[in-house]
Amino acid sequence: MEGPERDILRKMRQGNQRGNQKEPVAKAARELWQAVSKTVCSVEWLEEEGLLQFRGKIYVPQNADLRRRVVSLCHDTKVARHPRHWKTLELVSKDYWWPQMSRYIGQYISTCDLCLRTKLMRQALVGKLHPLWILDSRWDMLSVDFIVELPSFSRHNAVMTVVDSVSKQVHFIPIHMTVTAEGAARLFLHQVWKLHGLLKCVILDRGPQFVARFTKELYYLLGIKLASFIA
Ligand SMILES: [Zn+2]
Repeated sequence: MEGPERDILRKMRQGNQRGNQKEPVAKAARELWQAVSKTVCSVEWLEEEGLLQFRGKIYVPQNADLRRRVVSLCHDTKVARHPRHWKTLELVSKDYWWPQMSRYIGQYISTCDLCLRTKLMRQALVGKLHPLWILDSRWDMLSVDFIVELPSFSRHNAVMTVVDSVSKQVHFIPIHMTVTAEGAARLFLHQVWKLHGLLKCVILDRGPQFVARFTKELYYLLGIKLASFIA
């Protein structure tokens, strides 16, 4: 058993020793045992090694921190890689149970930052971009950010976001984390500059070298267009 899980179980045992069950279902089980026997009591409930079990699954007490940590173990770790609701529920319910666990897990995932970003990236990939797209609108001042280390989706595992500081419209451009300054410049040209034309200012969330190479490549690409136009 991993360190974090051992620590969660230790906290559950400590809570059980103090007997401070808040949830009616656990309170009732405990009262039942105290009335009948110190160790075992009903077909469904059991107390073993200081842990309450319901139908063979460890009951997680009504404690926000403990429940959050149990779900986190099955959702946020590098091994778990942010599975969706039903998969996370399946993983948690292998060993644990508490009332309305499925609802809790649904809410947990709906507020998971990485899952939200991944959802945005998926939407960008299937082309459901900003509904208020105005193709000929002029963007003067942009900021470009990179959201990296997302779970891999297709060939992409990061997103370049380009936000217009006035209208707050956003382009989400799926990329790979290893994208070069030149690659980013080409994507920028095809997905932003082509729609919005010349810009007054671009704020790039990268180091000076990346910005210099990005700018050089963008000018180079624009220069090629100009030369071929004159010819
Ligand atoms: Zn997640």
